[in-house]
Amino acid sequence: MSNRNLFLQHVGQTSEAPLALEIVKAEGSKLFDINGKEYIDLIGGISVCNVGHRHPKVIEAIKKQLDDYLHIMVYGELVQSPQVQYATMLTQHLPASLNSVFFTASGSEATEGAMKLAKRFSGRTQIVSFKNSYHGSTQGALSIMGDEYWRNAFRPLLPDTMQLHYNSFEDLENITERTACVIAETVQAEAGVIVPQNNWLKALREKCNATGTLLVLDEIQCGFGRNGSLWAFEQFDVVPDILLLGKALGGGMPLGAFVADKKIMDSLSYNPVLGHINTFGGHPVCCAAGLAAFKVLLEEKLIDRVKEKEALFVQLLKGPDGSKPAKPQYTKASDGLEPSRRYSVRSCGLMLAIEFESFEVNKKIIDVLIAEGIFTDWFLFASNSLRIVPPLVISEEEIRIACKKITEVLCNN
Ligand code: PMP
Repeated sequence: MSNRNLFLQHVGQTSEAPLALEIVKAEGSKLFDINGKEYIDLIGGISVCNVGHRHPKVIEAIKKQLDDYLHIMVYGELVQSPQVQYATMLTQHLPASLNSVFFTASGSEATEGAMKLAKRFSGRTQIVSFKNSYHGSTQGALSIMGDEYWRNAFRPLLPDTMQLHYNSFEDLENITERTACVIAETVQAEAGVIVPQNNWLKALREKCNATGTLLVLDEIQCGFGRNGSLWAFEQFDVVPDILLLGKALGGGMPLGAFVADKKIMDSLSYNPVLGHINTFGGHPVCCAAGLAAFKVLLEEKLIDRVKEKEALFVQLLKGPDGSKPAKPQYTKASDGLEPSRRYSVRSCGLMLAIEFESFEVNKKIIDVLIAEGIFTDWFLFASNSLRIVPPLVISEEEIRIACKKITEVLCNN
């Protein structure tokens, strides 16, 4: 039986129609399937592979760590050099108040840990989050998910949670002295790239200060240069009390973290002791890979070129009127054809969304693009929007090829 059929039969499924492409190799911004077909990766493992697939320095760090040790003990008991080195380096690149890193095995677990930390530290119970936000799929993270459709079947969930509208100044009034923490994505990813407007994040920070509420910013998807600065919050002039990290944090290996001031973090170490524990959080191989990827991100100055690459995508995708693509000049098939689809483009760094009138249109475009060697998908809470979240190392030539294909497909479908 083929691997594809075995996959469908024996690997737990999350949808009735998985893509089920068999990828056998990945390098830089490219994926290769079992038939030797090449794809430009516009997803980057959902914002994981910021430094590209299999960066040589990441591979080297992993191999070196394999020769020293793999798992030796649960999180928090032994001094493990990759963990210590990575935590230290991360805090050196964060504001002074974010100086203690608690490593987890996933982004969802980082959300869980941060919610527990906020409750434990504040002695309060209410957790506030936002519509169309995604913080993970475990039951606690699901409880604060901002979309009813995805969580209704799993009730009962955590009590005392409330979802407000992102970017609504009026809704901030609901944050009170009862609120342990507010959790927000600095830039909403699965909502289809929604950016905080008009100093709204600053107003949220001020409201948290006024009510003694901890502000948790989720940069699991938007951190590590994705939006054009190392941390997205730098662009909005706020500093969170707790920062959630994941995805690109591990350089392609599974790793998450919540970061806070040591004074806050230490409350997980007493009353009760072992306030949050795990077996695999901060796995030495994952930390070695993450540390190497973080160094690559900084040393290769990948973030410096994010805005330029974003501008190229936007320019190639948007037409002169800003809502249609420029009429492609380059193929006979599309020559003389007006794009048949109206769409709009949203972007924040190398996180872009092309919005169509419906999921059906979007899905059709995605399927054709994948068949044409452009790997993309849709957003969880914006199923009418096509995802462009490539590795930050994507080259100008790859961007041009991808956009040429996209505009051609838009003309012909
Ligand atoms: N927060 C955000 C913003 C995410 O995008 C994700 C994953 N898509 C998570 C949290 C959860 O991370 P994980 O899938 O590693 O549990």
